[in-house]
Amino acid sequence: MSDQFQERGPKIIAITNQKGGVGKTTTTINLGAGLAEAGKRVLLIDLDPQGNASTGLGVSADDRDMSTYDLLLEEASVLDVITKTTVEHLLISPATTDLSSADIELVSNEKRSHLLRDALRDVALSKLDLDYILIDCPPSLNLLTVNALVAADSVLIPLQSEFFALEGLSQLLLTVREVRQAANQQLRIEGVVLTMYDSRNNLSRQVEADARENLGELVFKTMIPRNVRVSEAPSFALPVLMYDPTSKGSRAYRNLAAELIKR
Ligand code: ADP
Ligand code: MG
Repeated sequence: MSDQFQERGPKIIAITNQKGGVGKTTTTINLGAGLAEAGKRVLLIDLDPQGNASTGLGVSADDRDMSTYDLLLEEASVLDVITKTTVEHLLISPATTDLSSADIELVSNEKRSHLLRDALRDVALSKLDLDYILIDCPPSLNLLTVNALVAADSVLIPLQSEFFALEGLSQLLLTVREVRQAANQQLRIEGVVLTMYDSRNNLSRQVEADARENLGELVFKTMIPRNVRVSEAPSFALPVLMYDPTSKGSRAYRNLAAELIKR
């Protein structure tokens, strides 16, 4: 029974890059919205103390009564923690600032790396009939990120199309290998997605060429263009797919969702 549940369970994807500002949260929100638009049922786990994904999807302070912190450290049930977003079929476990102390509190916890995985193995989760769980990671390779990697089936890495983009990647891939050896043999690299791409910019094209040469098939065909509508959307508590459905950013995230579903 439990095996069966696991086989049929949602695909869990950690959206990770220890660099800040590379488009993790933007990708989590809009990939989530793209999957929901394609008829999938999605749960987003906001694992960043800054809570930008929660805010960007219209989760009010009242609806953060229970948060990802409780899921990890208070043994709260996932059903009690999750709340609705402005997007149909996209649920969220919201983050609050108390998550910023979680990293330190985790150190002394025996199950420090496995708490998220255990929380997501809750059989009650099957009631939601989810297809995907997307985890928005903090900009660090800390214990919160390790929890995401231990819980996940795969890792999706947003790479900003700028100088030094590939710099931190080897450190991240090393961490993935370590987690694979220690705790999660099944962990795969889902792919690398180039974000804030500007085809008129030589540097963007160079980063793309480097990434495709070094990482081959791992790089998604879809690239996310730099698009002002993408950055405006969160202040309206909407994914760009709803804020401006025909914008370049929306089209790109829709394509990324389709590419992910096909993989
Ligand atoms: P991270 O979660 O990795 O720190 P964010 O997703 O918060 O990164 O993005 C960092 C900043 O870049 C945000 O202000 C966001 O609105 C902006 N941004 C992200 N993707 C795009 C894009 N495709 N076009 C324009 N601005 C973007
Ligand atoms: Mg973020």
